[in-house]
Amino acid sequence: MFLTDKFGRQIHDLRISITDRCNYKCVYCRSGNDGPAFPEMPIADYLRMVRVFVSLGITKVRLTGGEPLLRRGLVDMVRELGQMKTLGGRPLDIAITTNGHLLAELAQPLANAGLSRVTVSMDAVDEERFARITRVPNAYERVLAGIRAAQRAGLNPVKVNCVLLRGFNDDQITAFGGFARDEGVVVRFIEFMPLEEDRVWSPEIVITLDEIVRRMAEFMPLREIERERSETARRYRFDDGVGEIGIIAPVSHPFCGHCSRIRVTSDGKIRTCLFSVREHDLGGLMAGGASDERMAEFIRRAVDHKEARHHIGEPGFIPASRTMVHIGG
Ligand code: SAM
Repeated sequence: MFLTDKFGRQIHDLRISITDRCNYKCVYCRSGNDGPAFPEMPIADYLRMVRVFVSLGITKVRLTGGEPLLRRGLVDMVRELGQMKTLGGRPLDIAITTNGHLLAELAQPLANAGLSRVTVSMDAVDEERFARITRVPNAYERVLAGIRAAQRAGLNPVKVNCVLLRGFNDDQITAFGGFARDEGVVVRFIEFMPLEEDRVWSPEIVITLDEIVRRMAEFMPLREIERERSETARRYRFDDGVGEIGIIAPVSHPFCGHCSRIRVTSDGKIRTCLFSVREHDLGGLMAGGASDERMAEFIRRAVDHKEARHHIGEPGFIPASRTMVHIGG
């Protein structure tokens, strides 16, 4: 009944990109010259897809992009998602990953509509560095205001995702330690993966989990705490028990064996892995008049092709057929 791949992994986590437009041009993600590359579907089409996925056992839906807060109709979409029930009869877990630029205005309406959680991406905790990374001036204070608005709206704990690049923002590690404690957010460091438009990735540029733990000790030592089996982040508390840090380490400690995810791009293609080189055109099938049953069958077959694991850093690594901004992180 549940979506399960040929390796026995149960798929219950859907990430759906609702636009590949973005108002930031983060240097490690986008080239700065290239804009959106793929069409968007009507919101009603994403909702229909989600309904079919939920009928197959999906319990978590994360909206992403591009920048999902740019998408008109987002609040109504979340309200519709809020009406859906999992196979177990519970409300869906609805999350958004955002750069936070428009969050100050949208946090409360999204919470009212039924959003469960928000993750804000932030790669520096000082104004000047933030502008250099995002290539948008004066945005740091806006994002900070967005995080605080999300907290006031009850979307707690707010998670803050940070990608570290050697020689670029790795001097922010300890500052993020202070930020997590001062702002009451869970800061999660993500190892940089080869998914950028500019192809600058190299193993040397990645700040690994071990290095982050070691360097955070200059601020305060971390102690690992328990996590759920399918959780991608390793979780840590500061030695004095105040504040939480997560580290998502797909490069140095891959977790593909526990992967429970499936993705849909803004133009309706299923991707069974970030690093897929093949997509499954669910949007095209739907546009051709397929029934929900036919779509469900198509999803099951796509899941049968889910990759065993990624091959980051291995000889012969084949880059994904899309970069991160066009997949949905
Ligand atoms: N615009 C939204 C945002 O900023 O969160 C959603 C899309 S963005 C592509 C999602 C996440 O992917 C961000 O946290 C971003 O830092 C992360 N990301 C982008 N490129 C990455 C890469 N090559 N490796 C690891 N994470 C990456």
